[in-house]
Amino acid sequence: MTDFNPDDVHLSSGHFIDGQFVSASGQAMGIKRPSDGQHYAEIHEADARTVDDAVTVAEARRISSGWSGCSPRERGAALSRWADLIEKDSEYLAQLEAVGSTRPVTDARNIEVPFTAAALRFYAECADKYSGDVFPTQHSSLGMLVPEPYGVIGAITPWNFPLSMASWKCGPALAAGNAVVLKPSELTPFSTARLAELAVQAGIPSGVLNVIQGSGKVTGNALVTHPLVRKVSFTGSTATGAAIMSQAALHGTKPVTLELGGKSPQLVFDDAGDADEIAERLFLGFTVNAGQACVSGTRLIIQKGIAERVTEKLIARCQKPVPGMTWHASTRYCPLIDARQGEKVATIIAQSVAQGARVLVGGKRYDNTKEGWFWQPTLLENVGPDNVALHEEIFGPVLTIQTFTDEEEALALAQHAVFGLCAGVHTVNMPRAMRLMRALDSGTVWVNRYRRTWDFIIPTGGFQGSGFGKDLGRQAFEACQRYKSVLIDF
Ligand code: NAD
Repeated sequence: MTDFNPDDVHLSSGHFIDGQFVSASGQAMGIKRPSDGQHYAEIHEADARTVDDAVTVAEARRISSGWSGCSPRERGAALSRWADLIEKDSEYLAQLEAVGSTRPVTDARNIEVPFTAAALRFYAECADKYSGDVFPTQHSSLGMLVPEPYGVIGAITPWNFPLSMASWKCGPALAAGNAVVLKPSELTPFSTARLAELAVQAGIPSGVLNVIQGSGKVTGNALVTHPLVRKVSFTGSTATGAAIMSQAALHGTKPVTLELGGKSPQLVFDDAGDADEIAERLFLGFTVNAGQACVSGTRLIIQKGIAERVTEKLIARCQKPVPGMTWHASTRYCPLIDARQGEKVATIIAQSVAQGARVLVGGKRYDNTKEGWFWQPTLLENVGPDNVALHEEIFGPVLTIQTFTDEEEALALAQHAVFGLCAGVHTVNMPRAMRLMRALDSGTVWVNRYRRTWDFIIPTGGFQGSGFGKDLGRQAFEACQRYKSVLIDF
């Protein structure tokens, strides 16, 4: 596979409503490429009127096209065809993802695009597999729980994995018979719009999936508060999730699913295994997508007997990445999304150091990357309990290191006052791993690994300030339906 020229990638501008791209007269927003900071495109923000057009069309088409009322098997077949088209369009989608987001094109080709297609196939299969219930009642009556779609689901996604986030929202919502109006991040609008175009080509009726572009404040807010949006499914930061929840409460008391931020601990015990292997696992856990992953394992909590050996190896590993443009096929280490994010990372590290933290490696931007914000993998030790780097979600490649003596101390260090998204436990002592699995206040616990699987049957979602509800799994499909209780007397 080869490099591509980012200036040659065709970008479809506008909103995708009722099966076609439509322009809007809203505020123009310039977009820069993360790799080199160059301005490369513009979108016109969807104002309340454009959002109303998209939602009204979605509600009308889901009924008139028969999408909500057809056999679930037919919806499943359409989703499968969509997944096929995504695979056929892999190169274009990968280039769209790589030009505008932080995903290197090789990862986009080998992971993002096939992962997106595979998630949609999972929900294609769910469509006719899960149903309601029949209850034990007296013989002269029948009690049932009958699932039905909500109607229009408003979905809002972040910039860090635009394609897969879109599939996690659209797959379950569409399979369950809803229509969707999706707002991607204003920083990464294009790959999501292309997905919607392919959906129509696959036979998902026009207007059943619409994509609107714009900021959270204007477009996102108009979507959340629209009276015909019956449910909101959101992935993004904890602060935005809280704002959306309060807007949803005020405008229709509609249900929300919130997949929010994290500050996930990695607990490593002396018996965890080979130090090289552990260091590599930890390194990938906090540097994938340059640390811009919700589940990033950013707090290393390591037992004293193995701490020095693993830390030495981690320091060496942190010096190896070679940053590169996301359109170069050889690139593995990617940029931060923009200057604002870069400045946030720099500020938190400076505050952390002022509070007593010591930088073991990294701590600054690579100096050979011009306008792109490429941040060096950074290890911080000597972080006291109040250190800002332990508490804030930095969303950059920064790992704090704390040591412990026993399991009780490890657990106390691991619990976070706000977040509870994910945790890693590395030990061959299975009873200990199981005790910690039960005790950790985290929506996901990974034992002796720190990464997702392609088994979409396993849901993902946070506890505490990391949100509620699940993406993926049967749970996400079921959460896209409401359940009617029925009692019939014969
Ligand atoms: P963000 O909260 O700034 O924005 C997310 C989306 O919400 C964007 O589309 C944005 O335009 C929109 N938005 C912003 N304000 C809004 C408002 N008032 N009303 C409606 N919509 C609004 O987050 P981000 O910077 O794009 O993404 C990074 C965050 O996402 C991190 O905190 C990360 O942990 C989180 N994230 C969580 C998961 C998960 O599964 N838990 C996955 C990926 C990212």
